[in-house]
Amino acid sequence: MKKAVSLLLIGSLAALVGCSSSTGTSGSGGDQSGGGTASSNLTIGVAIYKFDDTFMTGVRNAIEDAAKDKVAVEIVDSQNSQPTQNDKVDLFITKQVNALAINPVDRTAAGVIIDKAKQANIPVVFFNREPLEEDMQKWDKVYYVGARAEESGTISGQLIVDYWKAHPEADKNKDGVLQYVMLKGEPGHQDAELRTKYSVQAIEDAGIKVEKVAEDTAMWDRVKGQEKMAAFLTSAGDKIEAVLANNDDMALGAIEALKAAGYFQDDKYMPVVGVDATAPALKALEEGTMLGTVLNDAKNQGQATLNIAHVLAQGQTPNKENTGYEIVDGKYVWIPYKKITKENMADAQ
Ligand code: BGC
Ligand code: CA
Repeated sequence: MKKAVSLLLIGSLAALVGCSSSTGTSGSGGDQSGGGTASSNLTIGVAIYKFDDTFMTGVRNAIEDAAKDKVAVEIVDSQNSQPTQNDKVDLFITKQVNALAINPVDRTAAGVIIDKAKQANIPVVFFNREPLEEDMQKWDKVYYVGARAEESGTISGQLIVDYWKAHPEADKNKDGVLQYVMLKGEPGHQDAELRTKYSVQAIEDAGIKVEKVAEDTAMWDRVKGQEKMAAFLTSAGDKIEAVLANNDDMALGAIEALKAAGYFQDDKYMPVVGVDATAPALKALEEGTMLGTVLNDAKNQGQATLNIAHVLAQGQTPNKENTGYEIVDGKYVWIPYKKITKENMADAQ
């Protein structure tokens, strides 16, 4: 009798344990959940440089989706202010979150965040804005998830090359030189600097001579992109033969300004390229106003960030098996870019 009761007790205990551990790790993306340790009481503190950014909203949603049924995430808006972000990080540390996932406002401020995190022994995953190499080396529990900025630059240049070669009439003044304008993202951001440099280099590497008619920063922003493009049109007007933008929002702003100047009607056309492949950009591809873009894979960037932070929060070392992503040089995850035009836009949806 006594034996039967204790067996029953063991049975129900086992059922209880089985039940609570499954709530920690089951659900979407369970194949990529780390380790199988119950993690229902873990929290990851996430700070986004600003919520009001189209691409980062995609990454933020991907982080939330990846965390579902797996681990708690607290996501805060740094409102494009590094001091605000530092305060939010301090709060996360006071609350003793189990891992941090940080999209820095100013990537050169990562060192300070790493020092604080290290002192509190809270691992940190940076994403989208790449810390300087020397900061990355400060501690072994520091990771970065992003994409190779050069690659996106090269692809956007190639989109212009493809168009130029297929359309001799694109050389409007028939001087054999491609006159372009550049809409840059935030100065100092690796994606702004390298996309600018490598897009032009890809065009030159294809044997096409280029002349920069104008270049200005529009800070990743659609309205600013429209204003800068309107200014370019006023000053350089018919000279411009192509528009390169470091992201889709600025490209879409430029398209608005071009529309207002009579482009995309009758035979008036301007090749415009962006980067990101956001939903409104895909719509512009469909309508024929945007020539092409480059898929900046928000879903995988968000998922990799969450998976790595989750593994670290459990006190484990991230690897391909427990995160689903290859870790390069012990610290980096690189999500590939992809060339997107009207023809293959389904790949970006
Ligand atoms: C994206 C931009 C975005 C920026 C934010 C870039 O990778 O292409 O659209 O504004 O990241 O840091
Ligand atoms: Ca020309």
